[in-house]
Amino acid sequence: VRALVFQDGLQFRTDYPLPRPGYNEALIRVLVAGICGTDLEVIRGYMTFHGVPGHEFVGVVEECGEEGLQGKRVVGEINLGCGVCAYCLKRMRNHCPNRSVLGILNKDGAFADYLTLPVRNLRPVPETVTEEEAVFVEPLAAAFEIIQQVSIRPQDRVCVLGDGRLGLLVGLVLSLTGCSLSVVGKHETKLAILEKRRIPVFMQSNFAEKEFDIVVDCTGSGSGFETARQLVRPRGTLVLKSTVAQRNGVDLNSLVIDEITVVGSRCGDFGSALRALNEGTVDVTPMISRSFPLEEGIKAFDYAASPGVLKVILKML
Ligand SMILES: [Zn+2]
Ligand SMILES: [Zn+2]
Repeated sequence: VRALVFQDGLQFRTDYPLPRPGYNEALIRVLVAGICGTDLEVIRGYMTFHGVPGHEFVGVVEECGEEGLQGKRVVGEINLGCGVCAYCLKRMRNHCPNRSVLGILNKDGAFADYLTLPVRNLRPVPETVTEEEAVFVEPLAAAFEIIQQVSIRPQDRVCVLGDGRLGLLVGLVLSLTGCSLSVVGKHETKLAILEKRRIPVFMQSNFAEKEFDIVVDCTGSGSGFETARQLVRPRGTLVLKSTVAQRNGVDLNSLVIDEITVVGSRCGDFGSALRALNEGTVDVTPMISRSFPLEEGIKAFDYAASPGVLKVILKML
């Protein structure tokens, strides 16, 4: 089958073996897959992954033990827990120490004609939701994870730092809480997507120090934490959404003195994201920069890495 394979560089292959579903797994024919920042890091060597990258996808179930899912369009949670450790038994599979992660860790991913995933990871896509929308479920779920972890009230002043793919999704999701929201970014065209939804945006932060109750760092840069720290009030909350190679010069003492709560935030449950797309409360389609056929995957990766580009999607047909 066709696949983009990362092994001493990224290659497009037509002779990749058809994956065989393991115990309790389904075989899924991929329709659409999204390229995200993590994929760009994977092909630079992050997690020393070899195989097929890609973890944001929509597909059709072709083979599956569960009748109800056969032939259905699905999206899939990307963490595969071992199922028997203390974390898995407490429904914290995302934190299983022996987990594999679709397209990121020990499991071939979505930039191919087919993939396999455990049936329990799959979620059917409502008919009204298009493939171009549903391919955002995984990153959108990561944005919804914030409001699972931190209670955000209408009277809260909240600042999102960063206007990349994740920053925009976080902005869209947090605006649903009715809080007083500001998003700070660097790109007029990206911020315009939020502006259209009447979310206040700023090209640089001219805010007073300690002006916000909650600050979410989606900058993906080492300096984001420091900026976020300056903006959050005493006893406020800092949410760290992006992993960065290095965080320099953060004075942790100031967290003690101001009694700041720091929350690390990663993957989320797909339910809220699917609901939001189905109800149309979050519109993700303006975020698609361009789509490519799978054959042009290498070109698509180059394009996704160029400045100003938001979501790039691969179409398998
Ligand atoms: Zn992703
Ligand atoms: Zn486990």
